[in-house]
Amino acid sequence: MTATRSTLTHLECGKCAATYDANQLINLCPACGRPLLVRYDLKKAAQTLTKAALAARPATLWRYEEVLPVQQHKHIVNLGEGWTPLPHARRLGEQIGCPNTFIKDESLNPTGSFKARGLALAVSRAYELGATKLAIPSAGNAAGAMSAYAAAVGLPAFVFMPKDVPATFQVECKELGAEVTLVDGLINDCGARVRAGAAEHGWFDVSTLREPYRIEGKKTMGYELAEQLSWTLPDVIIYPTGGGTGLVGMWKAFDEMEQMGLIDGKRPRMVSVQAANCAPIVRAYHEGAEHAELWQGASTVADGLRVPVAIGDFLILRAIRESGGTALTVTDDEMLRHTRVMGQQTGIFPAPEGAACLAAQIHLLEQGWIRPDETVVLFNTGTGLKYAHLWA
Ligand SMILES: *Cc1c(COP(=O)(O)O)cnc(C)c1O
Repeated sequence: MTATRSTLTHLECGKCAATYDANQLINLCPACGRPLLVRYDLKKAAQTLTKAALAARPATLWRYEEVLPVQQHKHIVNLGEGWTPLPHARRLGEQIGCPNTFIKDESLNPTGSFKARGLALAVSRAYELGATKLAIPSAGNAAGAMSAYAAAVGLPAFVFMPKDVPATFQVECKELGAEVTLVDGLINDCGARVRAGAAEHGWFDVSTLREPYRIEGKKTMGYELAEQLSWTLPDVIIYPTGGGTGLVGMWKAFDEMEQMGLIDGKRPRMVSVQAANCAPIVRAYHEGAEHAELWQGASTVADGLRVPVAIGDFLILRAIRESGGTALTVTDDEMLRHTRVMGQQTGIFPAPEGAACLAAQIHLLEQGWIRPDETVVLFNTGTGLKYAHLWA
């Protein structure tokens, strides 16, 4: 039994700043019902999480051990998540008039999406803290990732999905051994089912931002970007936003890295992209609101973006605004067309969510919001292979 180098200290509410002991299974802030964020002793972390030390670490997200919560190595459930490539999309960049375009290709994660990052952390930490059964509401990729990590560690997994979720996502969970329940409704309705069952059946709810650790997995995308760009950050990051875990996570990572002296204060402008028919964050951003209202009648082919209400809405909006970023929508038709553009100019077959970033980049270049000489990172958050039904 060996201890990790984790410098975890406590949990802190992202809304009311109440603090809690991290050594307990916990969901939202008991005081105000909002997400809990993980805090570390960053002075201590900076002593060993150095640029030089990182060079010799494994090519997974676990290389950032000091700023991850797991305490014992034996509790880490590792399928090789993270440290995904960041190819320079030269041909694509030239075609769209933005030569410094890079794609963070998250499709290479276990289970084919960046949900693996969050669920690797959530499942490892839940296991460490004694959870015996895990449950999740999901529009697709999160359920597959949760099923995989639960299988790896041998915990029973209960998945609640909208009944119109494409077969691929359902099959993946079932074949990985999860018990799948189809729900007549959207992901928020699935979430209500999970919460209703949690108390009765002893499930631990690993819904995003309703437990503190998925964001810790996704924040590693921010660490990787900095490390892969030689400890600089791009001018603009374009992120397809559902629950917003990755956007909020990367913003947290930039704060941590700055405090540890790994980067200077220059931050990217964070762009949130949503689907035209499910855009609660974009609407709230343009209204100047602190929270986002539920989006009625949400529909999009991009399953990861079909999130009509996000518990971390205020954290997403805060990060966009603090960064000088923006929020915009693209249509499903644009996503489907730009899948092909990205594919044929880069060799990466993106999920429609990834293609949405490219469509958004083109809009922002046309508007002059992105200048042609700026460095832009697009997030391809999953593999197009799981969405082959859209073109079949
Ligand atoms: C879940 C998901 C998203 C949205 O991610 P959040 O961090 O929850 O905003 C985007 N793309 C894909 C492929 C997803 O599975």
